[in-house]
Amino acid sequence: MSKQNFETIAIRTQVQQSDHREHSVPLYLTSSFTFESAEHGAGLFRGDETGHLYSRYGNPNTQELIDKLSLMEGTEAGVVTASGMAAVYIGFAAFLKSGDHVIASSSIFGNSKHILNAILPDRGVEVTYVDCQDHSAWEAAFKPNTKMLFIETPANPTLTTVDMAYLSGLCQSHDVLFSVDNCFATPYLQQPAKFGADIIIHSATKYIDGQGRVLGGALLGNKALMAQCQDFLRRTGAALSPFNAWILSKSLETLAVRMDRHCSNASQLVTYLQDQSEIDFVTYPHLESNPLYEIARRQMSQGGGLVGCQVQGGAQRGARFLNALKLHSLTANLGDTRSIATHPASTTHSKLSPAEQLAVDITPGYLRFSVGLEHIDDIIADIDQALIASR
Ligand SMILES: *Cc1c(COP(=O)(O)O)cnc(C)c1O
Repeated sequence: MSKQNFETIAIRTQVQQSDHREHSVPLYLTSSFTFESAEHGAGLFRGDETGHLYSRYGNPNTQELIDKLSLMEGTEAGVVTASGMAAVYIGFAAFLKSGDHVIASSSIFGNSKHILNAILPDRGVEVTYVDCQDHSAWEAAFKPNTKMLFIETPANPTLTTVDMAYLSGLCQSHDVLFSVDNCFATPYLQQPAKFGADIIIHSATKYIDGQGRVLGGALLGNKALMAQCQDFLRRTGAALSPFNAWILSKSLETLAVRMDRHCSNASQLVTYLQDQSEIDFVTYPHLESNPLYEIARRQMSQGGGLVGCQVQGGAQRGARFLNALKLHSLTANLGDTRSIATHPASTTHSKLSPAEQLAVDITPGYLRFSVGLEHIDDIIADIDQALIASR
């Protein structure tokens, strides 16, 4: 059969039917698998027999999720993990040792920054941050001991687009691994492997689940790199549970239709926000006035479901605005069917000083919306009444 399209892969990539001929893939809730014989068991341990052995190593449900995500991202192989942070950590720990150096973009998820600020340096790994948009700074950051370059695009929480083709070129010429957290875009909107990424990371907790139920993470890449991640995972134990894998694989069946609606709702919210006199600026990857618009168009098929804006009146107005919302949830998650509003300065990035916040473009009045799948008129009406009530 010819190569299938994204939606078909999402629905038809399934583990083999059992003798029951079930239509929907069952949950394999088992910690271990039996050996046909002593020789078969020995072969599984040696690695020259195929089949499952123990669910920390693999399970039909986790394997189905890996197969699906690898096809979606256009990579040879993958590994799934207990959470997005387990994937981020394994993406560093499986490849770096004391004396190595990592370059990272300054706009990344708070917890990923903590790994780079505290956990890796304590283990002898050096880190240099670069402002995403400064090309000369990326080049200047390479050292003889640089092993990896790590970015997110669009970046959290400012939704900055980072130029992957440019960075993968730099990484290739320095023989450095290029690692991309693709959580905000999902493989439906953006496939970093096409732009030269070696390692692709996901928090499956976000759009991949899409309904705020379970935690999960994934790493995707070529066979050799993923074998290193798999070896690290099976020995250190941050395995994804079969139940979560089963949920996430089912969720992927609807990723395309969900993302289409997230994106169209987000663009309509952008249009509304641009018309409001009390909103100083709006950030969205596919906004023509965005200086990184051309790169975002090249990398992402649509602009995504996250929208940022700056409300007049600073941090206090930001907090009043959040308190006035009636429909939007105030929570730390994103990529859910339910619309979510966040004020990064007082929550997710409150550990940074005001100067550090400004350095990564988090202004006191900056708000981030994870635009959900409720009717867009209701989403906009809620924001509209909260803008008025928070004056
Ligand atoms: C949420 C998130 C993570 C961490 O994922 P968890 O599943 O919460 O552990 C990593 N990267 C990005 C960009 C995220 O938004």
